[in-house]
Amino acid sequence: MDHWQNFSRRDFIKISSLFLAGSAAMSGSAGQAFSRLGQSGSGENGDRIVHSFCEHCFWRCGIAAHVRDGKVYKITGSEHHPLSQGKLCPRGTGGIGLLYDPDRLRHPLIRETKGGKQYYRKASWDEATGVVAEKLYGIHEKYGPGAIAMLHHGFGVSFFKQMFSQIGVNKFSKPSFDLCCGPARQASVLTYGYPSGTPEGFDMKNSKYMIFFGTHFGENMHNTAVQEISDGIRRGAKIVVFDPRFSTIAGKAEHWLPIKPGTDIAMMQGLMHVLISENLYDRSFVQQHTVGFGELWDSVRKMTPEKVAEITEIPAEAIRTVAREFAFNAPAALVHSGRRTNWYGDALQRIRAIHILNALVGNFKMPGGVIDYEKFSLKKPPAGHAHPPYERDVYSRYPFFAQDEPSNSIASHEVIQQAISGEIKALMVYGVNLPETMTLGRKTAIEALQKVDFMVAVDVLPAEVTGYADVVLPECTYLERYDALDAGRKYRTPFVALRQPAVEPMYDSKPGNQIAKMITDKWGIHGAFPATVEEGLDKTLRLNGSSLEEIKKTGVIVRPESDLYRKAGQPLNLKTPSGKIELASSLLRKAGFDAVPHYTPQPEAPEGYYRMLTGRKPMLTFGRTANNRFLGDVATAKENEVWVNAETAARHSLKNEEYVHLKNQAGVVSEFPVKVKVTQRIRPDAVFMVHGFGHTAAKMTWAYKRGASHNQLISRTDIDPAIGSVGFQNNFVTFIKEA
Ligand code: SF4
Repeated sequence: MDHWQNFSRRDFIKISSLFLAGSAAMSGSAGQAFSRLGQSGSGENGDRIVHSFCEHCFWRCGIAAHVRDGKVYKITGSEHHPLSQGKLCPRGTGGIGLLYDPDRLRHPLIRETKGGKQYYRKASWDEATGVVAEKLYGIHEKYGPGAIAMLHHGFGVSFFKQMFSQIGVNKFSKPSFDLCCGPARQASVLTYGYPSGTPEGFDMKNSKYMIFFGTHFGENMHNTAVQEISDGIRRGAKIVVFDPRFSTIAGKAEHWLPIKPGTDIAMMQGLMHVLISENLYDRSFVQQHTVGFGELWDSVRKMTPEKVAEITEIPAEAIRTVAREFAFNAPAALVHSGRRTNWYGDALQRIRAIHILNALVGNFKMPGGVIDYEKFSLKKPPAGHAHPPYERDVYSRYPFFAQDEPSNSIASHEVIQQAISGEIKALMVYGVNLPETMTLGRKTAIEALQKVDFMVAVDVLPAEVTGYADVVLPECTYLERYDALDAGRKYRTPFVALRQPAVEPMYDSKPGNQIAKMITDKWGIHGAFPATVEEGLDKTLRLNGSSLEEIKKTGVIVRPESDLYRKAGQPLNLKTPSGKIELASSLLRKAGFDAVPHYTPQPEAPEGYYRMLTGRKPMLTFGRTANNRFLGDVATAKENEVWVNAETAARHSLKNEEYVHLKNQAGVVSEFPVKVKVTQRIRPDAVFMVHGFGHTAAKMTWAYKRGASHNQLISRTDIDPAIGSVGFQNNFVTFIKEA
């Protein structure tokens, strides 16, 4: 095991073609009949249709994988699954592009050094999991469970959590919480006493008026939400969009209001001011069901539309119009909390302001307003052995970090910092391409990856992060494996869904459940997992009156829609300290934060620089789809562009479709050039680019060198002091012409 000593500072290895090439044959022959494969139903010509759920984003819609001659040839939306309702977003249909990606990791790899040069050699599963088990256990023995952490993204991680629970490791972090849904979830806890989920509890299909702040529905393609918005629009709902950029959803809007970036809380305060000062709010609802109204009014009394207009650069009359229309359409009116909410390090308060706006118009649990869906309450067999977990100490730093998420016990930026400081010695990275993940930027992420004593990557593709691993464990895709049941989410029709394999694992890849079991077995711990994953699933399903054979047919069990709306006079009995909706949060006050949201100005761009905004393309979900040729070959997804206002373009003599490098305020220059899109669809003080391009991992042969990396240009981050999530929209760029 001497070779491990050399890796405290490891180089990036371009995963050698030696181990990727020459293996077009699939070791787990895709053509071979396999009795364990999902068999939901037979189509024409003996084709099989396998019902499962998508992994191209966290929405996890139900899919129907169409299999012929042992190959998946088409993926459609499952008509049985409530989140797809027979439809998929374009990304979901492109799952075949991941399954048959020629760049997939094919074998376990172990880092070696020969003649001072580091390289990967092919290893057997027995050897690779043996090395992982030995290294993790050694670090655990020497430094304790707090020296091991796991960064994760993806549903298959549950088996690795179960594995780590055997030795008391629970330093788990999912960067998506910090970047995306965390602030919305926790703002809901502080205001309503329950966390918001996926999908969020907004009754969009019955709404008459929907306000979005920088929420890119139609570009981020959250299937059910897009279907519900479309239903709402068909029924005549009006859309209002506050966004510095004319986004896809802005194209459907009655009012597009190109707000100055970073001033959203001021706008929300202005809307509150109009609702209260013009007596448009639901007085009886507020008196009966909320606390903190007086404190709220004190905080917005001076935020007149005229004052807010100066801050936001939106005319005062437009602010009044939106507030009046919102109140007029209430309670079938809502402000959506959105996703990817972390912009400036104040997201918790910004989303709190959104919830307060909703509460003021009394839309709570009303048709077309805010609703709280229900979960399928799945009975589970008694949990197997688990070591008492390492105690979470994140709350001493961030009191409102996710309180009840077992998979998320430390903020992702803390994992990176603790890896750099030496507190974390071993890192498992599951489905997180850390160098391109919007946490502390690329440079800091790489520093952390190089610093830890041991790093293992579990992944499907040779993304950047795998090049820093000591051991690479190739997981098979979601179309080749079982996972845990998806039952933890709230929806209007509660459901439990099955992921089942449509085809056998290709190459020498394995499902996560087998990988985790192999490592646990090598620790000498047996009985942590059932003998087979099928056995465990069947046992749980039988406790709930079904069976694995039964659920395989449709991939889902669905309960009828529960009663979502409140009755007049009914108390809310919320789980907040007051039992009511907290306009002023007693918990925030107690912890030393503002009980009601206040606007704080953000830094202005240096002369000649522009605020860098980011978002998505409908075909792409960042890392998951980065190398997907099926999706990427669509013209709009081949590379990213930088949107530049025509006035700004003229100032810098930029032409449409010209390639430029971007340079940020710290002097970092984008490694690859990016195409300029000259447009009136963005304010002159900002530029916009889609995240997830500019890959440097040459073995992702499709994604390599396409466009510029947004993550590379993040040099400044703003940490939300209440929740620990990371904002990065205080980064600014200017243009360097190619020549
Ligand atoms: Fe898949 Fe699209 Fe659904 Fe996400 S929204 S799970 S990518 S189909």
